[in-house]
Amino acid sequence: MSSRVMRDFDLLLPESIEETIALLARHKDKSAVLAGGTDLLVALKFDYSIDNVISLALVPGLDELDFDPARGLTIGAKVTIADVLRSQDVKDNYPALWQAAQVFATPQLRNTATVLGNILRASPAGDCSAALYATGGSLLLKNANGCRNVDLDDFWISYGVTARRADELAVSLHVPAPVKGQKSAFRRMTRTTEDLSKINAAVCLQMAGETCRKARVVMGCVGPTLLRLPKVEKMLAEAAVTPELLCDISNVVISEIAPIDDQRSSAEYRNKVAGILVKRVIEAALNAKENDQ
Ligand SMILES: Cc1cc2nc3c(=O)[nH]c(=O)nc-3n(C[C@H](O)[C@H](O)[C@H](O)COP(=O)(O)OP(=O)(O)OC[C@H]3O[C@@H](n4cnc5c(N)ncnc54)[C@H](O)[C@@H]3O)c2cc1C
Repeated sequence: MSSRVMRDFDLLLPESIEETIALLARHKDKSAVLAGGTDLLVALKFDYSIDNVISLALVPGLDELDFDPARGLTIGAKVTIADVLRSQDVKDNYPALWQAAQVFATPQLRNTATVLGNILRASPAGDCSAALYATGGSLLLKNANGCRNVDLDDFWISYGVTARRADELAVSLHVPAPVKGQKSAFRRMTRTTEDLSKINAAVCLQMAGETCRKARVVMGCVGPTLLRLPKVEKMLAEAAVTPELLCDISNVVISEIAPIDDQRSSAEYRNKVAGILVKRVIEAALNAKENDQ
């Protein structure tokens, strides 16, 4: 934990989405939205450009965690990791997301940290972000001029940088309804169970019997943003998932990643285990109960 001291800032407490957006329009990049604060309060010890912290604490209408078999899942900006973990709908229909929530930090952190905060932080280590990138989804962003939806495929631009504009509030995330035969899983490796991932992986497979029709395969902590692995996805598409294919996939992963040395692990170690982790996460998805939605 850092011993740095935070600079003074104004804590703004809007009581509606409209008021929040008006404050964002006024303060733009001199402001930051505070959801759970588990990333932001750390960042404020290093980023001295923020004069106004706009808390969502009193803003109603952002708590929705709603699943509809036809429409999919909606996750509001104040939905916490613990909310996700308590949801049987998420557990049954989006196992990768539920598994990411299950291993996420500690109970205290899970009660505070939000799913959207995880996405907005744009860390390549984000566990729920990795699971959601595999499943797919789009963020609803709102500013004084209106709304727009941004696909997660287009959202993370580089380390800590997103497609969100400074005056936009992320209101919710929409995750598509699972298709028949959809299977997903998330796995990670950490130094201690409470720590951020040193490497993580998530997959979402569309299976028809033994054949994989389509796959989305994601790795974290192996580049400046979370990465999809296009070669691996291509190998899985319209293929029978045999032990031989998994072995070939495991060997290809290293050509799709660019890990670095940091305080959590080394590039050498990450390169060594990445292929095995991807193989294991695919096996975990395949061994899960089929979703018959
Ligand atoms: C001890 C510790 C352990 C951790 N362990 C893990 C872990 O195991 N796995 C993991 O993935 N992460 C972990 N984290 C990181 C962090 O907890 C997560 O990224 C968390 O999901 C962030 O959510 P939050 O609600 O706290 O976001 P905040 O800190 O409130 O916000 C994060 C960023 O998103 C922006 N933001 C938040 N909500 C909105 C919104 N609605 N609209 C616009 N901008 C918004 C904020 O301005 C800020 O820039 C850990 C952090 C700590 C301190």
